[in-house]
Amino acid sequence: MTYRLTLTAALALSLGAASPVLAADGDAAKEAKSDSGKLETKTVNPFFAPSPLPFHFPQFDKIHNEDYKPAFEKGMRDSEAEILAIANNPEPATFENTIVAMERSGQLLTRVARVFFSQAGTNTNDAIQKLQAEMAPKLSAHTDKMVLNSKLFARIQAVYDQRDTLGLDAESKRLVERYRTDFVRAGAQLSDADKTKLKAMNSELASLSTQFSQNLLKETNASAIVVDKREQLAGLSDDAIAATSEAAKKRDLDGKFVIPLMNTTGQPSLASLKDRDLRERIMQASLNRGSHGGDFDNRAIVASVVKLRAERAALLGYPNHAAYVLEDETAGTVGAVNKLLAQLAPPAVANARAEAVDIQKVIDKEGGKFKVSAADWAYYTEKVRKEKYDLDAEQLRPYFEMNNVLEKGVFFAATKLYGITFKERKDLPLYLPDIRVFEVFEENGDPLALFIVDYYARSNKRGGAWANAYVAQSKLFGTKPVIANHLNVPKPPEGEPTLMTYDEVNTAFHEFGHALHGMFSNVTYPRFAGTSVPRDFVEYPSQVNEMWTAWPEVLKNYAKHYKTGEPLPKALLDKVKASEKFNQGFATTEYLGAALLDQAWHQITADQAPDADGVLAFEAAALKKAGVDYAPVPPRYRTTYFSHIMGGYSAGYYAYIWSEVLDADSVEWFKKNGGLTRKNGDHFRETLLSRGGSEDAMVLFRNFSGGEPYVQPLLERRGLTPKGK
Ligand SMILES: [Zn+2]
Repeated sequence: MTYRLTLTAALALSLGAASPVLAADGDAAKEAKSDSGKLETKTVNPFFAPSPLPFHFPQFDKIHNEDYKPAFEKGMRDSEAEILAIANNPEPATFENTIVAMERSGQLLTRVARVFFSQAGTNTNDAIQKLQAEMAPKLSAHTDKMVLNSKLFARIQAVYDQRDTLGLDAESKRLVERYRTDFVRAGAQLSDADKTKLKAMNSELASLSTQFSQNLLKETNASAIVVDKREQLAGLSDDAIAATSEAAKKRDLDGKFVIPLMNTTGQPSLASLKDRDLRERIMQASLNRGSHGGDFDNRAIVASVVKLRAERAALLGYPNHAAYVLEDETAGTVGAVNKLLAQLAPPAVANARAEAVDIQKVIDKEGGKFKVSAADWAYYTEKVRKEKYDLDAEQLRPYFEMNNVLEKGVFFAATKLYGITFKERKDLPLYLPDIRVFEVFEENGDPLALFIVDYYARSNKRGGAWANAYVAQSKLFGTKPVIANHLNVPKPPEGEPTLMTYDEVNTAFHEFGHALHGMFSNVTYPRFAGTSVPRDFVEYPSQVNEMWTAWPEVLKNYAKHYKTGEPLPKALLDKVKASEKFNQGFATTEYLGAALLDQAWHQITADQAPDADGVLAFEAAALKKAGVDYAPVPPRYRTTYFSHIMGGYSAGYYAYIWSEVLDADSVEWFKKNGGLTRKNGDHFRETLLSRGGSEDAMVLFRNFSGGEPYVQPLLERRGLTPKGK
């Protein structure tokens, strides 16, 4: 099970949620070779002209912190001039001079924004953070100036009104409709007075969400656990201890040990640390992030954000922010989302409580005189797992060496399904030495894309895992995609191999699913490239790709002992499979806790929003009301470190389980049709992965699967079917 952030969120996180034309993935895809001779292509700023490198790969060796600001400023000026020229064109509005002209505008801004926000997520520094805070409200204001320009909207409306008689192809017609929807949702039909109010709200929201993410990164680094004595780390492997020692050295704490925090509530070390006090310290540090006072407290920001979003929704004519967001998703309504979550919560919590009974038995048997707490769960779960399945998760790691996982697992599965091949390129400039770049080829040898692999954790990298596009595919511009995958795998000590956990391996497959969606994109307009689909659909292809992680033919190919080359023993694999439903009560409950919190925060009116002091009480009440207030299983993210919902996934965290319905259904389809075959891969690519947002998402799903989505496979996978049936 994996819940991760994608580019849509990453860009929107930085640009502010209500920036439909610039913020969404693919919206910002106006990347191209310059067709405007007026750009000073000789200037030293590496963004002013399209990168001359293959695939317009970013010139990381030439990009410096001080290049971003002038590029943003010129990018906004150029974009504004282009937009005004479209809006003030004396000719009657046509598809070409209005809609396509919009698609062609803002290329410099897109170019710099894609690199800047990617670097802000993966390789940030003080200068980038400062500029991010400065640019967020400016970019939000820039987008507003465009979408709230009434002359421009009148032209879009005029093309929209004639769309059925213009002889447009299906994608072009959809583009017209998409632009009109984007503009209306962004407030194009408001009065001038309300537009002024909206602009102020958007600008403030953009600043607040930037502040939230910057606080969170600093808070998470500051909350790392410092351990004085090696004995306290009993239970961790020697490699893991060596890594904590390295982490201490990096912080000038030689001789001590540092356990950095991951972005989720649960922390990987909790599964093996024997010292209960230390486990409790780690769990408390994790849970308290952003809500215990100090410089990086996020409570006041959360309070302001949810109130402003509620006010903005009201201004736009919606009962609350969730209603506004969901209208544009495949879910459609608040009611549909609440129904699915309410259907899943009771059986999930019941399963978690049953799992707690097994855990408590182990604690009691060992003479522990305590009730299982959140800090104990992972540790004793591993003991139960060993007892029930004779499986120690650590036994798997030697079989998951990172290069094998990538090239003989992730790539191998893609070659089997789609015929594509990969060749590492050493001639392109990288932003850090441990990043790798591969050129991806079609079966016939034609170049398809560049793929950037950035798997290691760093203190200047956002938590979690995500995919993003440095260059998006578009036939309009003739561009091929440059896609990156980001994970947070702890880096081993110098000279040691990188041995991944099963969950990290699964994440690599997941993120590569997003990459395939970006690389196979075969659309005309950048607005529809790759992953520019509804948020509650975007996780679906990536979740489907997870199915190949444990697919026997794939696993056999990559899961080999890093020292001996021996394949993963069948017995061990069988145990992994047998234990797949294990601990699903916990996993589903912690996920639903976060998803329900997200909805609670965004289904309120402005009057119902608490002040900063009331944030934690609101959170507690929301969990109680939804029936997921079970202390041993806290939400996967608490409000003050839930970066998904303060950025681009607001009211959208439900999307992972929503799209898992489609995922589970599609996995059944693959199994029924023979699994890992070229025929199946081609069908998935043809009907769905290549289509981006150029067609209604649910139509694409039906074209692929031949039917309506069916919830049963999901319920079975997570053990949520009613007992006795
Ligand atoms: Zn994802």
